[in-house]
Order: sequence, then C-alpha cells, then structure tokens
Amino acid sequence: MKKAIKCGKLFHSTDGTVGENQVVLIEGERIQEVLDAASFREEGCEVIDLSDKFVMPGLIDCHVHISEFGAPDTFRITATQLVGDALLMGLKNAQAQLRAGFTTLRNQGSPGFIDVSLKKAFNSGMYDGPRLLASGSCIGSTGGHADSHYSPYLQTVHDIIDGMVVDGADQAMKAARFVIKYGADVVKFMSTGGVTTMGTTIGAQQLTFEEMRAMCQVAEMYGVTSSTHAHGTNGIKTAVRAGVTSIEHGTIMDDECVELMVEHGTYLTPTIIAFRRMLERGEEEGIPPHAMEKAKKAGEYHEKSFRKCLEAGVPIVFGTDSGSPCNPHGKQHDEFKYMCESGMTPVQALTAATRTGAHLVRMWDDIGSVTAGKYADIIALDGNPLEHIEDMAKVCFVMKGGKVIL
Ligand SMILES: [Zn+2]
Repeated sequence: MKKAIKCGKLFHSTDGTVGENQVVLIEGERIQEVLDAASFREEGCEVIDLSDKFVMPGLIDCHVHISEFGAPDTFRITATQLVGDALLMGLKNAQAQLRAGFTTLRNQGSPGFIDVSLKKAFNSGMYDGPRLLASGSCIGSTGGHADSHYSPYLQTVHDIIDGMVVDGADQAMKAARFVIKYGADVVKFMSTGGVTTMGTTIGAQQLTFEEMRAMCQVAEMYGVTSSTHAHGTNGIKTAVRAGVTSIEHGTIMDDECVELMVEHGTYLTPTIIAFRRMLERGEEEGIPPHAMEKAKKAGEYHEKSFRKCLEAGVPIVFGTDSGSPCNPHGKQHDEFKYMCESGMTPVQALTAATRTGAHLVRMWDDIGSVTAGKYADIIALDGNPLEHIEDMAKVCFVMKGGKVIL
C-alpha cells in the first residue's frame, strides 16, 4: 500500500523554501509525488499525519567514525580492540544515528573494513541502518595521524588497525587501490597531524604532494571520492592542489587556501562540534593533556577559517566527527547551532546537511531532497528549526527508504 505523509511544513532543500500543508506520496522505497493537501485523495493510502510537524529530507553527516564511541582516549581503545568489537560498536552507533534522523553517513576511518560489512548488511535489509559510505582504513605516513602505535617493537598489520601507513607515492597508490578493492566509497588520507594522536603537530604537513596526488588519482580513476584530514595551511593547500574532494576540519586557513578551494570546487567538512566537545568536557572526562593542548590551539583558528570559507562560497557540508572524544553518535545536533553561531543562516545549515552533502557523496539523484523519484528518506521535528535552530535535536519521526524507523 502507498504511504502518504501529511506535512504541516515541508523544507525544500532545492531552494530553501518551506511549503505549507503538502503531502508526500510514497510507493515502495521512493517518493512518487509531492502535492498540495487540497488535491490529495486518501483512498488506498496509509496516512501518516505530521500536520503539526516540520518535515525535511533525512540528514547527511559527512564525517563520522562509526566504530568509535566518544571515548576520551581513542588511541588506547583502537590499539586494544578486536575487529568484532569494532563491528558491534559500529552497528550500535549506526542505529543510534538513524534514530536521530541521520539517514546517510559518510564514514571516515574504521578498522578491518567493518564499515563495508555494515553497508552490505544495511543495503541487504539484514539490519536497519543508515545509508553508509565506507572509507575502510585511513591512510597516513610513518608517525603520522593514522599511525596507531608508538612502539618500535610492534609490526603494523595494515588491514586490521585503524590506519594504513605509507611512505612514497607507490605505497600511497597501492593503499588507495587496496581500500577501494575491499569496498571503500571514499579514500581518506591524513594530510596533517591530528588532535588526538601523540607526537604529531596539528599544523604540520605529513604527506607529500606526490603521495596525495597518487591517492587522488586512484580515486578519480576508480570513480570514487577522496577526503583528507587537514588542520594546517600547507597540508590543506597541497591536498587541494592534489585534487582531493573534501577537506575535513580545515582548521587553519589563509586567504590563498580559501581561493584554492573555490577554484578547485573543494568541499569543506568543518566538524566544529569535535573541538567544542573536547574543550567543554575533555578535562573532566580524562582526555590526555597533549590532546587538550592541541584542541585549544585548533579552536582559536577554526571559526575564522569557517567564516572565510562561507563568505567566499566554498561548498560546506555537515559533518561532526561523531565517535571522536566526548562526541557520541546520534547526539551531534548541536553542530547546526554552532554552524549558525559561526555565520550561517538556518537555511544554509539545513542545506549543508541535505543538498550539499548529497552532492559531495554523489547521490543527489537519490537523496538530499524530498522530490519525486528519490528515496523516501524523510524526518520530522517538533518545533521549527528555521526559527530556533536548537529544534534540530527534536527529531520525532524517521523514515528511510519508505520504512518507518521512529
Ligand atoms: Zn575524524
């Protein structure tokens, strides 16, 4: 039987307008038609009445760590967990995300290709879960942000631990092919140091142009996207010149950085909440001092860089680093508020989490708006986030592919 959703308000991500009293007709997994309530006939439809709700497309989070759970010291956890532990944690996290309204997630690093396994399980209908874009392991340099241990007596086991270590363009190319071979939709590499890892400086570039270009080139040839963890200016510029699809975090940027991103059409995934949560809760929850020190430094630069990108017209998506320290899955709605505090209008923030995200993951034909022909990924909220952006947390209805989840 067809489903019909009566929408009091319906957010159109295509142009940022809100329709009043519209009805969405759903046949199977997809939206058949969006029409005015006046021309809707109920016969033969299962009616879902959201007349007093704010209805919008399912949310897209372009930066999560599906197998991590917000522990203060991820470094220690990833060094001691089994792949099965990561998989079960990933299943729990993905389902929490879906119930929170995130119908599509782009993973940004997991051990043992557990994100690929989850994607298959969700796509086959074995479990309910969001649409998942997988990355497999992150790729970085010796001693870089993806290098998982600091004991010279340990051997690295590439496909099991969180990150793959490469040195030189040939190794980088091989690593990119390796993750794509096992199902990655996005090749994720580490251009600079990170906040949570020991011994790395956040601003310092950690891969050469040749190494980054090799990975971007492989991604282009195989028809997938690439993304890079990048805090510092030189790492960002080099990655953009190498052809990366998206800059993750984008913490310290000068004008040239922003100009290059505009010129190359590079996306920014800001993950403001990752810094905020560490600064607010980190000390209390026991984040190591080396990481707290770096989070403080990063926070000082980040908002300025975000504003520069916004003003210059860099395409900005919604991404939260969910799973990073003190930043658990399905509780990332504050990112909308932070984006608005940093200069976005509510319409821009909602568009980042729908239309722009759908373009980044190259699924705009299927998701990102409530439009005839697309998957019926639809959520509803109590309140009106265009008036109170905090209402984004009041998710009261979730449908994915025509199936009611919440
Ligand atoms: Zn991350």
